Amino acid sequence: MQQESLSLEEFQEKFVSEEACVEYLFRIRWPEGYGCPRCGHGRYYFHRTRHLYECKACRYQVSLTAGTIFHGTRTPLRKWFWMIFLMARPKSGLSMLSLQRMLKIKSYKTVWLMGHKIRKAMGDRDAPYKLAGLVEMDDSYFGGSKPGKEGRGALGKAKVIVSVEDRGRKAGFAKMSQVDSMNGSNIGRVAGDHLTHESKVKTDGWAAYRSALREQKVEHEYVVVGSGKEAPKLLPWVHTMLANIKGNIRGIHRGVSHKHLQRYLDEFCYRFNRRFWEDQLFGRVLCACTNTRTVSYSELKA
Ligand SMILES: [Zn+2]
Repeated sequence: MQQESLSLEEFQEKFVSEEACVEYLFRIRWPEGYGCPRCGHGRYYFHRTRHLYECKACRYQVSLTAGTIFHGTRTPLRKWFWMIFLMARPKSGLSMLSLQRMLKIKSYKTVWLMGHKIRKAMGDRDAPYKLAGLVEMDDSYFGGSKPGKEGRGALGKAKVIVSVEDRGRKAGFAKMSQVDSMNGSNIGRVAGDHLTHESKVKTDGWAAYRSALREQKVEHEYVVVGSGKEAPKLLPWVHTMLANIKGNIRGIHRGVSHKHLQRYLDEFCYRFNRRFWEDQLFGRVLCACTNTRTVSYSELKA
């Protein structure tokens, strides 16, 4: 999906008003021009405050924002567009609190919800993609340092399986999956969801990988590492990604609760997977935001 490149200045000029954002969304929704979903008539009345288009022939009303993350929002589209633009910037490193201040959004709850709706759209966009070729796979543990066991048996930490395509001198696409515990059945499920039958997986020598990947009929190579220090050499891309996202979560978000971690992982992978199309990211994320079943505050808090 090709999208136009937008610099900060071009973005500012293009989305100078709420009307400009409404028109842009209209063109994404109805690229061929408006047609009444009920009778096909091409002329409408526009109800500005509710973003509703009413058919001049049959009076059927259709919302511009139905089926998008903007549905039912009281925040102007312009602020949403800015938020998407800023979150789509690679390495932007903005916390929700700084976004709230920059965009002058009254409540933290609103900006927090907006952030998660955008993250969910990013995750939904990447969900159907599979990893192919040689794939590095490893598990990692997120969360504050609690005394006690480290690594695979650690208590109170979020457990994440990281898979990255190893294309030699560069990494391909990546996925990160939070699991409730590190065991063979979760490894098998993640492999089944994310890999193609042509993938070949590289891991350390932990027995759970061997049995789970054999069961999934995935080709597998593993190296038994003597100490934790050797692992980054064996699985370099996994470890580079982990260092980046952990630094990001610690430094910018000041930690993330386990409950919402998956969406931060999705946001990180979404940007990573498109790091060669940085200038197009606003258009791409916006498209993702218009094609998703969104999530409500009560669903997030449940
Ligand atoms: Zn009609």
